[in-house]
Amino acid sequence: MSQDVKSMTLSELTEYIVSIGEPTFRGKQIYDWMHIHLARSYDEMTNLSKSLREKLRDTTSYIALEAEEIQISKEDGTRKYLFALSDGNMVESVLMRYKHGLSVCISSQVGCKMGCRFCASTIDGFLRNLTPSEMLDQIYAISKDVGERISNVVVMGTGEPLDNYDNLLRFIDLLTNQDGYNISQRNITVSTCGIVPRIYDLAKEKLTITLALSLHASTQEKRLEIMPVANSYDINEVVEAMKYYANSTGRRITYEYTLIAGVNDSDLDAKNLTKLIGNCPCHINLIPVNPISERDYNSTSSEGVLRFKKKLEKNAINVTIRREMGRDIDGACGQLRRKKLKEGLS
Ligand code: SAH
Repeated sequence: MSQDVKSMTLSELTEYIVSIGEPTFRGKQIYDWMHIHLARSYDEMTNLSKSLREKLRDTTSYIALEAEEIQISKEDGTRKYLFALSDGNMVESVLMRYKHGLSVCISSQVGCKMGCRFCASTIDGFLRNLTPSEMLDQIYAISKDVGERISNVVVMGTGEPLDNYDNLLRFIDLLTNQDGYNISQRNITVSTCGIVPRIYDLAKEKLTITLALSLHASTQEKRLEIMPVANSYDINEVVEAMKYYANSTGRRITYEYTLIAGVNDSDLDAKNLTKLIGNCPCHINLIPVNPISERDYNSTSSEGVLRFKKKLEKNAINVTIRREMGRDIDGACGQLRRKKLKEGLS
């Protein structure tokens, strides 16, 4: 396989460049073009000779994702990108505009094997992991497209990031590198459905990223109904791992809780949830479920969401109701790719 230069650290790239007979400083020049100037191809690297550019084009793979489709929300300016990968697969990414800056939500895998009942990303199954460069370039391509710097990254698109652990760590290292795009670790959130051993591994890395758990239920029994991963890891085990992560990194953890009418939004759910996640610095995001056509789930009414929020707040839990963005543009995880796949089949 040819070298994936955008997945290399600066020292690996420099070593590679020297191995093909070029001077050391070329490594840094190419690294700057990729990670600071966000060059889309070697052609843009005008301080390299034409012959070197040609040699690199022939011997390496330069990952630069092509936007197949961009949907722009008229409601809030959210932009949803469908990117084509070099093997013809597609992934989705979303750009959201907040008061504090631009946030990009990226995918970590093509498809997903986790099988959460309410999620469109998993319906067609899992195809492959994304490489570090494919994760990075979702951010770079979007930053280049809008001509602005991205300040926050959430790994919350299609896929389970902790099921692509080594590539995820390398991606975080490259994205936060001072010689590169240089996003602060504090501005990165990784969301997991709860792969317990990997949560302990991540705690050992001593990163300052935010870890979010997709909890979505207040008891093991209820979680089993909507998240097959609960067959592998009991809800108490997962929450314990999250608390361990909080204690060992000093970072406040986040729980995601998608409210589904009649499934997980009762007063008893709020009470059980309080017991489950209490006694540890955390934050919970309540997200009314974004209904997908393949499943019969409806979102809790806005009054119901407020009621649930108040119950948690009474017990001193920090709660945010996540603003729904991009509802008019296939906003829910995996919807756009799935629509495209279906079009391709018809
Ligand atoms: N696998 C990781 C990250 C991808 S899913 C995880 O499970 O966290 C990103 C988030 O979107 C998760 O919290 C997931 O549960 C949520 N999600 C997926 N489909 C949704 C839908 N239709 N409505 C609301 N949230 C959804």
